[in-house]
Amino acid sequence: MTYKKYLQSKKWQGKRIKVFDRAKSNANSSNKYGICERCGYEPKRNCLQVHHKTYIHLFNEPLEDLELLCPNCHKEETKKQRAEHKEFELKERIIKSMQKRKIEYEITERIGNLSDNDNQVHKELNLISWNKSAAVFDLRSWGKDADGNRKPLKGLTLSADEVEILRELLNSIEIA
Ligand SMILES: [Zn+2]
Repeated sequence: MTYKKYLQSKKWQGKRIKVFDRAKSNANSSNKYGICERCGYEPKRNCLQVHHKTYIHLFNEPLEDLELLCPNCHKEETKKQRAEHKEFELKERIIKSMQKRKIEYEITERIGNLSDNDNQVHKELNLISWNKSAAVFDLRSWGKDADGNRKPLKGLTLSADEVEILRELLNSIEIA
């Protein structure tokens, strides 16, 4: 059911009447056009609106989710809801952009490719500066992101001392 259809349904009309009745009985008012549940305004014409405080229970809302408001209070409330929504969206955008922010790196020296296939995931030894810090030896798998750009995958960084030790270790063993 669409929202528009729902507002024409018997179910909604019944709820609407109950909200009007509640407003009048709480305020002890007999005004036939109802009374604003927020400011107490009693109009001389049919202009009060049943406002949804939340849309979580839409189509099945308890009366507590509904509030009878005059046009002024309704306008204020809508403004407030919009502002809150904007703030929420801004927060979401910031979080998303933070998650999306790429790790910055610069390959300062390409030392070598350990795999022969350059198209798929392959391993390289490079000198890389990560996030603008001093360059380190970097042994890593590389792949491609959705746009086809090089993307650093799992790997490890080594200091010059560690590479020196690694060289000695490699020289000391027989590789079949
Ligand atoms: Zn009002």
